[in-house]
Amino acid sequence: MNAFSVPSYCGRFAPSPSGPLHDGSLVAAMASHLDARARQGRWLLRIEDIDAPRVVAGADRLIMQQLQALGMRWDGEPVWQQQRLRRYQEVFDGLLERGLVYGCACTRQEIQAASRPPAPGSHERPYPGTCRHGVAAGRSVRAWRLRVPEGVERFNDRWAGPQQQDVARDVGDFTLKRADGLWAYQFVVVIDDADQGVTDVVRGADLLDSTARQRVLQRILGASLPRTLHVPLALDERGQKLSKQNHAPALDLDHPLQTLNRAWTFLGFEALAAAGIEDFWSRATAAWAQRFPWPGPQDDGFK
Ligand code: GLU
Repeated sequence: MNAFSVPSYCGRFAPSPSGPLHDGSLVAAMASHLDARARQGRWLLRIEDIDAPRVVAGADRLIMQQLQALGMRWDGEPVWQQQRLRRYQEVFDGLLERGLVYGCACTRQEIQAASRPPAPGSHERPYPGTCRHGVAAGRSVRAWRLRVPEGVERFNDRWAGPQQQDVARDVGDFTLKRADGLWAYQFVVVIDDADQGVTDVVRGADLLDSTARQRVLQRILGASLPRTLHVPLALDERGQKLSKQNHAPALDLDHPLQTLNRAWTFLGFEALAAAGIEDFWSRATAAWAQRFPWPGPQDDGFK
């Protein structure tokens, strides 16, 4: 590809199969689906089952049925992260060879005790770098961390606008392999997006503050930097994120147009008096394309 060609659009929806979709996760699914449709791009489905203890058996199938019932069809075969463990190991080994990851013996309590308070807008304390130059004698490695280079990561989110984060200072060397032996979300999501050729990440605003970390990893791995669009999170009446943990009710598929319109109006649009599901999607796609026109070449994003 030369410097001037624009790769065609590839988006994805990446639910964690910890339960069926609810009104909150539908907002993210809808936004990413619409953005892909508006660009006549591909829309992939990735089942993010890396966090095995949180997986609920059968939730992946339920999610697929829900998407189909609401007229959202993904391209190609879905990908399950559990099928990709060898690939994650291979990328990890490459980083290890380059001296870019190191073993860490710290417990959560030790990090709490040694670290500065969380940066504004963050809820985790930055890792203080205790094991960066080796694990103290007699201690054993629990987790594996990325050596985060210094510098400020800047990007322009298509919904939230200009963003910046000093990852080394505000997050520190973050975990690629957790103390329980599982690959970390931040690590595998970057490998998956890169391997699947994802050009555009559209997802919930709870992941906006993960984006700078993911960009750091993308740069280290020589991957492309996808554009992002983070949609607001749906909250329940107590102001909590609608989530499976908070027992948000599953989607109402008996009244698909009402269900679709709930997510659609949450995204700030007028309800659509659609004749059917397909009609809903074609009208919604046209309205989305108008509100989120394709970013110009001067916009930060895919490069
Ligand atoms: N699996 C994540 C979730 O269900 C989404 C990750 C992503 O879109 O990057 O919240």
